[in-house]
Order: sequence, then structure tokens, then C-alpha cells
Amino acid sequence: MANEDLFKKIISHCKEYGFVFPSSEIYDGLGAVYDYGQNGVELKNNIKRYWWDSMTLLNDNVAGVDAAIFMHPTIWKASGHVDAFNDPLVDNKDSKKRYRADVLIEDYLNALDDKIAKEIEKAAARYGSGFDENMFRSTNERVIENQNKRNAVHARFAEALNDGNLEELRQIIVDTEIACPVSGTRNWTEVRQFNLMFSTEMGSTMDDSWKVYLRPETAQGIFVNFLNVQKTGRMKIPFGIAQIGKAFRNEIVARQFIFRMREFEQMEMQYFVRPGDEMRWYDTWKKIRLNWHRAMGLGDSKYRYHDHDKLAHYANAAVDIEFEMPFGFKEIEGIHSRTDFDLSQHEKYSGKKIQYFDPELGQHYTPYVIETSIGVDRVFLSIIAGSYAEETLENNESRVLLRIPPELAPVKLAVLPLVKKDGLSERAREIADMFRFDFRCIYDEKDSIGKRYRRQDAIGTPFCITIDHETLSNSTVTIRHRDTMTQDRVAIDSLHEIISAKVDMKNLLKKVME
Ligand code: ATP
Repeated sequence: MANEDLFKKIISHCKEYGFVFPSSEIYDGLGAVYDYGQNGVELKNNIKRYWWDSMTLLNDNVAGVDAAIFMHPTIWKASGHVDAFNDPLVDNKDSKKRYRADVLIEDYLNALDDKIAKEIEKAAARYGSGFDENMFRSTNERVIENQNKRNAVHARFAEALNDGNLEELRQIIVDTEIACPVSGTRNWTEVRQFNLMFSTEMGSTMDDSWKVYLRPETAQGIFVNFLNVQKTGRMKIPFGIAQIGKAFRNEIVARQFIFRMREFEQMEMQYFVRPGDEMRWYDTWKKIRLNWHRAMGLGDSKYRYHDHDKLAHYANAAVDIEFEMPFGFKEIEGIHSRTDFDLSQHEKYSGKKIQYFDPELGQHYTPYVIETSIGVDRVFLSIIAGSYAEETLENNESRVLLRIPPELAPVKLAVLPLVKKDGLSERAREIADMFRFDFRCIYDEKDSIGKRYRRQDAIGTPFCITIDHETLSNSTVTIRHRDTMTQDRVAIDSLHEIISAKVDMKNLLKKVME
């Protein structure tokens, strides 16, 4: 299936099965804002629980907070967001469409990478087991030409980003002959900076109101509470503070469904360390975070690290974890070494001392920070994209299923009476009731059993339990497994154990620690 088709199918599947709806849909929607439906909210809550527990249960020294979205406006001056939280944008004069200049160039670089990868793939198929990729890369003319072109553009691009050189960004677009995907022309405006923060007024009258921002990241709520948590929690360095919450960005290029939203949710953890220890902790968290993603079992090869071309003003090292979305490898999490930038800035702007006394060293210092920052919505999309499957069955029927990790699935089991009569419905309801306090369970008696299985496959329910006449006589049921569609006859008494073995969040958490 072409990737574009796959992505379209995923979007309509999310809507049809109650995962994600466009916001304000009856008013024709609101750009890049989405609502989560009955199944989406369950999956989202499970993702958040998985992350929260992996931070606060697995680490004695990570504590949580829940800071307000509104914060003192000077915070955003101190953090650099008022002056530097910008995207470079460029318009095509013919289509009037607006683009991020950096994204246009990145797409161009990715297209060259794809060309090279295709040449290698073709050659590998032609030469079979004797194929030597390194040799091919260094001798094939087309590959060498494309690689050189890529390296040259990449070097210019990285330099332009680091220098904030907008003219050079435009020149790269011109020199590489990048065309607008809509009009097909190369008629570009100048590149301009655009601040991504939303602002609003706080206060009741014009005179005493002041401009406040909707936070563009949750991190600052952690930095300004550093001393509160450290002192009241008697925390010793190294320690971390974790937070889950909404963030807002006025994204210019707001496409790609829930990948790039204007209102989204972040899960961030700031880990405070001794100055000089930061690279060790950076490497540690880099590994832990990749483990966290891989533990979900969507396929290790779907993830990769990507080092930043441009370091943010606060960082001395930064890497993204990317996931292979239907539209290519894209960032879902960033791990940043933020130095002592934020705490020092808040000390400067607030005039309050923000330091830590290290009893082992017998000295005060401003801690350094390693940050792990991940978007709930992007993880959500990675799970849906990575688990969506279409299968043709033996009887030539087909099914669409979501192989969501059972621990995160919105519904854990469906209880289905084979027929509505002969007391089967009543018995099925009793069985569903047995699990009320343990698992999210759906009772369904409408339509044929085949159709009911399909409905559960489509929302990723790992188990279906069918109650038939035999159940009444010997207290057994059939349990059907989502991925294999195999069915086993088992005692009702054993159900709890079978299901919890698969859906217990501990399964994932243990893998994070491996
Ligand atoms: P991008 O380069 O894609 O704009 P970013 O580098 O600005 O992302 P960060 O500031 O590092 O992103 O934010 C941390 C995480 O927050 C990202 O890895 C992503 O998962 C999530 N995130 C950021 N912006 C958005 C958005 N507009 N919609 C959904 N999630 C987002």
C-alpha cells in the first residue's frame, strides 16, 4: 500500500472507531486542533500512565508535578521564548501557501537519501549475497554524485540554521530548485521569522490587564519549581522532576494530522545533575528512552536516533528519537542537555537565588539539566501507525486490526454471548461483571459473532470471550486472541490470570529496565 494511502486510511480509521475527531467538526473544524474520542482517550491515558510509571515508579529519585498552564510572562523572556522561539517561514507567491523554510530543505535532503537508498536496494537485489554496500557506495557514480550533493547542501543548511541566516536559507531553496508542491513554481518570498507562542490577556479591565502566554512547553513549570520540589521533597542531586501537560504552539505548517498540532500534550522530565556529569546522564537517558519506545514491540527498526543540525540556544547536546511514520522518519522525542541555562536565567530575571548545596562536595552550584521531552500525541500516532494492519483471511474475507500493545489497548476484553437466548446473555453479563474492577471490558450481543470480532479487532481489543451453551453446563468459555485469531476453550476461573498476564503494565515497565 502506498504510504500516502496508508496515512489516509489511518486518519479515517481513527475517526470511524472513536479514536480522534477533528475539533469543532460541525463548524468545519479548527486547523490542527483535534479531539480524542472514547477509545482515543483510553489509549492516550494508558500511554501517559506508562510514561508516568516509567519515570516515578522505576526511579526513586524522580518526582512529579502538575504546574499551571499560565505562568508569569517574564518566565518566557528568561527562557528565551519571547525572542527566539521562532520558525523561519517562506511563502510561495503563486499558490499563496506558507512553508517552513527548514522543512522544505529537510524534505529535499530526505529525497536525496531515499534516492541513494533505492540505488543500494536495487544493486543488493541484483548482486545477491556477494553484495558489498561500502564498495558500492564508494564506486557507483550516481550514488557518489547524490551523496556529494547531499553533503554540500547539508553543510550549508546546518551553518545557516546555526547563524540564523535567513537569506542563506532562501538561497539554498533557490539553488536546489525546490518547487512549491501546490503550484509547482519556484516563486518564493523572503524568509521571515515567526514567533510560535499564543498570547492572551489576563485581568478584567483594559488598564490592569497584561499579556500572558499559553505555555509552548511544560519544562518551564519544572524549572521554576526546582527549589520547591528539592526542598520539600528533600531531594539530593541527581534527581528528576516529571510532568505531563498541555502545550500550545501556533504552528505554521499544521498538517500531518495529530503529528503537528496547535494544542498538544507533552511528557517532560528534567534531570538535575552536577556540572560536568551531564554527558554521562545524557547517554544514560538516551538509552532508557529508546528502550521505553522499543518495549512496546512495534519493531526496533522503526526507531532511530537523529542528532540535531542546530542546537537550541540552551543546549550543549541534543538528539531526537525518530519513528518511521507513513510520511517518513519523524521526531517523537527529544533528549537535550540544557546546561545550567534555564536555572541561571530564572535566577537572573527573578532576582532569587536558585542554587543547590551539595553536601558531598560541600559547595553551592547551579545544577545542569538533562531533559527528555516527548509528545503524547506523536506516541499515539506512532502506535496507531505501527499497529495498523489489513489482513485477508482464509475464507477470502478481510479484517482491519490494530495490534496495539495489549498493555495500552483501550479495551482489554470483549464478552460476547453466542446468541441472545437460553440465558447466555445473562451469564455473559455476569462474567463481564467479574472484571469490572480489573480490566476495561465491553459487552456486545449485536450482530453475528464474526462481525463482533471484527469490531474488536478494529479497536485493538486483545481478547474476546465467547459464551455458548457449553458454558452453562461446564463453566468454560472460548477465548480468542486478537493477533493470531486462535481460540482456546478455558475455564472461567482461569480467565483473570490469562488476561492479566498480557495486559499488565508491569510487562512494559520491566522491559524498560532491561
Ligand atoms: P518539531 O521540530 O517537529 O517542530 P520540536 O523539535 O520543536 O519539534 P520539541 O520542542 O523538542 O519539538 O518538543 C518536544 C516534543 O514535543 C517533540 O518531540 C514532539 O513529540 C512534541 N511536539 C512538539 N511540537 C508538537 C506539535 N506541534 N504537535 C504535537 N507534538 C509536538
